[in-house]
Amino acid sequence: MERMQAMGEAMPDKRSRPAGLAVTILGSGGPMAMTQRASAGYVVYRDRVPRILVDGGGGTFERLGEGRIFDLVRMDTWLFTHLHIDHSAEFPAIVKSMYFLRRGYNKMSPLTVIGPDAWGDFPSTSEFVDAYFNKEHGIYRYFHHFMETIKAGDLSFDTKDLAYDYDQVKSPEKILTRDGMSISYIPVMHGPRASKTPAVAYRVDYAGQSITFSGDLNSKSGNLVRLAKGSDILIYDAALGPAQDFDPPEVFHTPPADIGRAAKEAGVKTLVLSHFMPPYVPMKIERILAAVKDEFDGEVILAEDLMTLSAQRGASSSSSGDTQEESPRKGPMQRFRERLQSQ
Ligand SMILES: [Zn+2]
Ligand SMILES: [Zn+2]
Repeated sequence: MERMQAMGEAMPDKRSRPAGLAVTILGSGGPMAMTQRASAGYVVYRDRVPRILVDGGGGTFERLGEGRIFDLVRMDTWLFTHLHIDHSAEFPAIVKSMYFLRRGYNKMSPLTVIGPDAWGDFPSTSEFVDAYFNKEHGIYRYFHHFMETIKAGDLSFDTKDLAYDYDQVKSPEKILTRDGMSISYIPVMHGPRASKTPAVAYRVDYAGQSITFSGDLNSKSGNLVRLAKGSDILIYDAALGPAQDFDPPEVFHTPPADIGRAAKEAGVKTLVLSHFMPPYVPMKIERILAAVKDEFDGEVILAEDLMTLSAQRGASSSSSGDTQEESPRKGPMQRFRERLQSQ
């Protein structure tokens, strides 16, 4: 064990994770490469065991390692809010990691992958998975044979495509129940209708606790509020900065004031702002926060990579996973506050 720690490969200390329902933020930025923040991705724990991935944009693969989530082999469900690159690019890399961690060997296949159905230029989620891993024509079809060669079990997926029309589906739908956890979804509007971007939001409930993931959306359909009602945690797309905080007819993301209004209307306990898009200078984030707080009186948290939040005990149990001394990285807010203090 000591030797493994020296190699930076310590096994996860499950006791350091919160009980009940909890989430680790793998990526709070995107879509441009930036310091400190990977693109969108989240891990949901049920009683300290990682069970669900939500999205998986660039950099989330590394964050899984950095967060010592080596038991990701226990993950049985992957939820895609949509298939933009900054939400899905690490899919094959993380799948390979899961199976090298003996997912197939331990007969834990198939991996359930859920996301929106096809629309416009976007494939369905099933087609997306197939494009990578279909045994006959997938671009990584070699991986089936590779798994056989190393006697690592079977690679298999169980996919589900969700209706995406936010004008048709106006109430949350339960899509999966597993080990006391239930997952619901609702379609959301991510850009002008002409952009034909299929996108959905998810809610995970377990033991009276709940976490809602907005995915990317503008606030036009009103659907997210219906899904997020009374959530303990709502993680919201804050890609749109205050400079764009006006009311154009249709945009891809939600202006900060509308985020605050949605959180208030949904009556959530804790609102987590995430998916900060560059240029993301701390002053911009402070202005986003101020605009949100003008509308929402509850607790607001600015997401940072590898921050873990418990739905059970609220934000008071949030942690970055590492102690400050050990952490090689500092979040933008931390650096900003330190700079203010040093002046
Ligand atoms: Zn995005
Ligand atoms: Zn997007």
